[in-house]
Amino acid sequence: MHFLSFFGTILAVMQMKLPNIKILDEKHKILHQKSSEATFPVSKEDRRLAEDTIKYLEMSQDEDIAQKYNLRAGMGMAFVQLGKLKRIFVIANEREDHTFEEYIIINPKIISKSEELIYVGEGEGCLSVNRPVEGIVPRHARITVEYYDYEGNKQTIRVREDLAVAFQHEIDHLDGILFTDKIDPKNPYKNKEKMREI
Ligand code: ZN
Repeated sequence: MHFLSFFGTILAVMQMKLPNIKILDEKHKILHQKSSEATFPVSKEDRRLAEDTIKYLEMSQDEDIAQKYNLRAGMGMAFVQLGKLKRIFVIANEREDHTFEEYIIINPKIISKSEELIYVGEGEGCLSVNRPVEGIVPRHARITVEYYDYEGNKQTIRVREDLAVAFQHEIDHLDGILFTDKIDPKNPYKNKEKMREI
């Protein structure tokens, strides 16, 4: 990339306005409820919310911006965290070149999963859980997910490693499950030796 266009990109990111989204805390009971299937085509309002949330997540993963706005970095968000009980979530996964893979996943269903289990060594995080949580969460190392796009066309995606963890974390949100629900406080590192750390 030409130096000036690179600089221009950085400047554009720095001047981006933080989307005005409100993330609910785990204390809110809606986070423990099951979301309903979305209907098609997805409304303009919901598309806007999905796009704004992706933008928010991307900005949260930029150190300078996160510091400026006092944000915690996050790579995924389910609509229920924004107060909407619809089976929709978004993920912004940063590539090595600092661009993002963006996913808008509607009415997902896990259709196959690896036997191999993994866990995030430093623990999972959630933008709705604003406290330190000790423990690990078992996740499938690879999953295949069927989902729909905005227009209602069925799609399939196979994800692995940290992206697979993010998908499983977000799909749990759609069923009212937080990662903290999957940790036994009396034995927060249960079965660690049977899983691979990532
Ligand atoms: Zn979460």
